[in-house]
Amino acid sequence: MTDAERRRTDGPEPRKKGPQKPTLLYAGPPDEWLRWQKALEAALAARGLEARLVPHPAAAPGTELQPDEIDVILYAPTGPVSDFSPFSRLRAVFSLWAGVEKIVANPTLEVPLTRMVDEGLRQGMAEYVTGHVLRYHLDLDRHIFGQDGLWRHDLVPPLARDRQVAILGMGALGQAVAAMLRPIGFRLLGWSRRPKSVDGVAMHHGAAGLAAVLGAAEIAVALLPATPETENLLDATRLSLARPGLRLINAGRGSLIDEAALIAALDEGRIGHATLDVFRTEPLPPDHPFWRHPRVTVTPHIAAETRPETAAEVVADNLARLIAGRPLLHLVDRAAGY
Ligand code: NAP
Repeated sequence: MTDAERRRTDGPEPRKKGPQKPTLLYAGPPDEWLRWQKALEAALAARGLEARLVPHPAAAPGTELQPDEIDVILYAPTGPVSDFSPFSRLRAVFSLWAGVEKIVANPTLEVPLTRMVDEGLRQGMAEYVTGHVLRYHLDLDRHIFGQDGLWRHDLVPPLARDRQVAILGMGALGQAVAAMLRPIGFRLLGWSRRPKSVDGVAMHHGAAGLAAVLGAAEIAVALLPATPETENLLDATRLSLARPGLRLINAGRGSLIDEAALIAALDEGRIGHATLDVFRTEPLPPDHPFWRHPRVTVTPHIAAETRPETAAEVVADNLARLIAGRPLLHLVDRAAGY
């Protein structure tokens, strides 16, 4: 890890000690409160941490919210809090989601923001992507949907070692995907914002790096965050750089893709197929052309879900850091937007 990466991950210098028995406000999805409560209580107890857990009234009707008693907010964009200004003694906001585009520019948020990086998200994303990469690699659809009596013995797939797979976005999730694909043997290409090295992955950055990666890969996986810089990254120009027939998996954010340009490239066969898990509008409207396009598979934002049982461990670790005055894990770089 470089110094710059360490600063981004672990925050700046140690800060002053936090309250010894902090109050955490659960402002995640209201219907998940009881599951979170159980997981958080277990994770806090396992560390010998004392904390007061309070649900937002949206999650536990009848409870009263005292904003001036809250030290930490557990936040999700599907939860009830979007104005942080009433929380006068707030020390930090822990996002329960990995993607923070809905909160990162919030002007009422004046305390450190962390995002979710945990074993459940990493494993879930790695399994989802590996499944879809193998589907493309083995051309499974040709056999599943082609049971027509013809013996096509010529359809022998190459070995994974002869298949180039690109991962656009080599952060926590991109690296988890690489770690699962690598032992299968795929030739991996990676693309990130800053130069970095990752074992077993030919890494690239910058515009020239993206052109090289797209030109070489037969399967590309997008795992980038939604930021002003990544908006419409895969537009008509970038898609035209892709190796003909590229199979694309987008499990990052819908905003990475210029939808009209993708549909045009799919219609012409320049992009062979797309598996899309994330969309500009979610749920994807029933009349959206992606649903009925023969070269698109839609999955309903299920690639990686935050699971309280694993995520609570990270919340508790960061709470322990806050109490001890140690730098928080997984701090969001608000200027970069992720
Ligand atoms: P992360 O650790 O912050 O990694 C982000 C990666 O994207 C880093 O490698 C970063 O480069 C790269 N990047 C950012 N901006 C870039 C740019 N302009 N050009 C090139 N590369 C750029 O995030 P993560 O935990 O891996 O999560 C990635 C995204 O997955 C989240 O933001 C979220 O949107 C999405 N997600 C989706 C699901 C789902 O269910 N579909 C679930 C969880 C998360 P550096 O390494 O140089 O910083």
